Amino acid sequence: MLCEPIPIESRPAHAPAPGLRQAEALAAEELLAQAFAHWGSGLVLCTALQAEGIVLLDLCRRIFPAVRVITLDTGRLPEATHAFLSEVERFFGLRIETYFPDADELRRLADRQGGNGFRAARQERELCCHVRKVRPWQAVLQGRYGPAPAAWISGLRREQSPERRHTPKLQPDPQAEGVWKLAPLADWNAAQVEAYTRARNLPRHPYYQLGYAGIGCEPCTRALAPGESERDGRWWWERGSKECGLHLEARPERDIRLEDLLETRGRARVR
Ligand code: SF4
Repeated sequence: MLCEPIPIESRPAHAPAPGLRQAEALAAEELLAQAFAHWGSGLVLCTALQAEGIVLLDLCRRIFPAVRVITLDTGRLPEATHAFLSEVERFFGLRIETYFPDADELRRLADRQGGNGFRAARQERELCCHVRKVRPWQAVLQGRYGPAPAAWISGLRREQSPERRHTPKLQPDPQAEGVWKLAPLADWNAAQVEAYTRARNLPRHPYYQLGYAGIGCEPCTRALAPGESERDGRWWWERGSKECGLHLEARPERDIRLEDLLETRGRARVR
């Protein structure tokens, strides 16, 4: 059935990660080195091509050149991001695996919301993020597009928002049983990301020059106004949590409700 939670059934319960138990005390490079020593090609990098992801890509490539690098194309990315993806691939001499939302789920989302119905209510925005981001990532973790990852690396930093203040550097993924999740830059600040980028002469998404603090979907991401904090450029019309769902602390209830939410027959469209 469409939209039911994607099971990750063949995994054992969370395996211990020997040598990584002191993750909080490890610098990013050391944490990654130990993680690749433990998981090898089972450890993948997920990046939206933000500055943090490029720093991590550089660190990973220095430690484990064959690292799998994965990005999600939501279908609402700016053209500049597509161009930047090609630039990053050329710079590092690799191919970034790109995955997309399920076509039928997208059709049903469009039936319900039209083009920009995610602006109508927070629930609609979260539904759009769920279909365009969370579901494709679940499919990656399930192994639908290659070997199922044992662990994945995100670019989360604690200073980005109140929701991210307690991000661990290593944890069992609360949304995927048997999978580990790393945030090697959790204790970095924006200046450290900038300094590393400059020191290594890494490519940088052109939107940073326009005042963006993060890179995301075109209609939901804007440059910061003076005095705003890093995540304020996301879903600026909303108050409260600035998360798309990938980094929630539990599998979203939306998994369960998705079938109902996408069922529009006999209902007025959300506009
Ligand atoms: S960021 Fe906006 S366009 Fe992108 S998936 Fe979320 S709601 Fe949809």
